Amino acid sequence: MIYRLLFLTKCGLESIILIKLMSFTFRLVKRSMAKLIVAKEFDFSAAHRLIKYKGKCENLHGHNYRLIVKVLGNPDEDGMVIDFTELKSIVKKEALDTLDHAYINDILEQPTAENISIWIWDKIETKLKKSNCKLFEVEVWESPQSKVIYNGIKESDISL
Ligand SMILES: [Zn+2]
Repeated sequence: MIYRLLFLTKCGLESIILIKLMSFTFRLVKRSMAKLIVAKEFDFSAAHRLIKYKGKCENLHGHNYRLIVKVLGNPDEDGMVIDFTELKSIVKKEALDTLDHAYINDILEQPTAENISIWIWDKIETKLKKSNCKLFEVEVWESPQSKVIYNGIKESDISL
């Protein structure tokens, strides 16, 4: 007890406060540096035909598509990378309102899952770009076994 009281002299007390403040600041900085991926899943139904294809898919048919949109970022002061409600609203307005129950050939000449994923990326990317987050990945599932993933990489970014 005596040692503890001696430690809590004016100088010692200031040191403890300073250490606690530094620790608190470090924790805040550490938390704000965390990168997280927020994902939301959507469903839409649409018809298409693949015009440059020899096989069943050249005929008019439909799919129940699943779309997964992923946003990468740091939590803001409210602890959110992006509000799920805002993410839903952007994806619905910019992409799904056009695609759902549509004949996708009216939008894309060759509506493969690849081209649909690029189209969706281009529609929502700028709307999801904020100071703390950006679009990370778009997944378009044409069936429960088949999907395409697009993350914005352009032809010039990689050599195949
Ligand atoms: Zn198809």
